[in-house]
Amino acid sequence: MVGLRIDSARLQSQIDALASISEAPAPVVTRILFSDADLKARASVKSICRELGLSIREDAIGNIFARWLGSSPKLAPAATGSHIDAIPNAGRYDGVVGVLGALEAFRALKQAGFEPKRSLELIIFTAEEPPRFGIGCLGSRLLAGALSLSKANALRDREGHDLNYWRQRAGLGKQNIDSVRLPKNRYSAFVELHIEQGALLEKERIPIGVVEKIAAPSTLRVQLTGIGGHAGTVLMPNRRDALLAGAEIALAVERAACTTGSPDTVATTGVFRIEPGAVNSVPCRAWLEIDLRDTRLQTRDAALKRIEIAIQKICRRRRIQFKLEKLNADSPAICAPSLVNTVTRVCGELRVGAKRMISRAYHDSLFMAQICPTTMIFIPCRGGVSHRPDEYSSPAQIKTGVQVLAHTLAKLSAEGSSSQSAH
Ligand SMILES: [Zn+2]
Repeated sequence: MVGLRIDSARLQSQIDALASISEAPAPVVTRILFSDADLKARASVKSICRELGLSIREDAIGNIFARWLGSSPKLAPAATGSHIDAIPNAGRYDGVVGVLGALEAFRALKQAGFEPKRSLELIIFTAEEPPRFGIGCLGSRLLAGALSLSKANALRDREGHDLNYWRQRAGLGKQNIDSVRLPKNRYSAFVELHIEQGALLEKERIPIGVVEKIAAPSTLRVQLTGIGGHAGTVLMPNRRDALLAGAEIALAVERAACTTGSPDTVATTGVFRIEPGAVNSVPCRAWLEIDLRDTRLQTRDAALKRIEIAIQKICRRRRIQFKLEKLNADSPAICAPSLVNTVTRVCGELRVGAKRMISRAYHDSLFMAQICPTTMIFIPCRGGVSHRPDEYSSPAQIKTGVQVLAHTLAKLSAEGSSSQSAH
């Protein structure tokens, strides 16, 4: 597979074109699940898939599967993929590099006359980002059976709309959501190309990271109800201020993360809304969303427990009613050593420097790892910046990532014949 020509200029113009499909003006990229911008972006990526002659399937949650049929179509395909949705005020590379980069890898392989034995499949996952329903990796979670249908049906966005409302709007209403789940070993392997979203590779001047483990995320949603009133007339001893309880909770979250003894514990209160939100009115309601992660499940769960206890104590003392929802508490993913070795070997063959690493951000790979051997290929991003409009990876850095992905997919496509596709 020597002589693969990755067309950096073409790929960059596709990345830029996709970035222009956004709910907010450039350079901001915002594409929330099933918004007009998200639907338009999906259509545009599907048209690139069609140009490449891939066959497209879309499941009931909107995961898109674009298959390059192999000469042994009964073998379980090797898959790659990522996401194209984006949180408010995001940049153009997160997720997109793994989708458009994979399509460029397919194109380069086709141009080189490569013919896959196992089929190769690109998966574009629905709602890797959590802003619509407060839960990340919605598509891959359902696909891996890591989210029950009752929990999925109970999801509501800020306006109170459920999943079915948005599925209807996206034209997916006819399919049944229980058809999304895939059996184990549907795929022989899954490899996701992604920007690092950290600064390790850049600092050490290493072009490729091969992911061995993905940290365990969890998300809490807290609803606080106090009693509002006039800011001038309700005297301090009589106050039941929801914001102040929330403020104490946010500090308790920070404390819980700082006292686990592990440098890998991180916790963030990233959402904090209050009602009524007027300067002369005591806040009667508050909503918080808390994100807590660690590479070790035990440490993460211990911190989670401490936060739950703190919420109870604070609310009791301040006479605030609370509703606590654990939106998710996932296990870390251990990547398949054989696959990590394959990617490392490809880097060696291409004479590209590589380093094994942990992913502190979570990705759809966290859930793909539950149904097939999985790893990720990281490329550096400037200053480790992500989820911001100034997120940046250079065309050369992206090109190296696509090279490694393309050669890895070629190897995986030619590999073994032990596991049969479960069609
Ligand atoms: Zn991402």
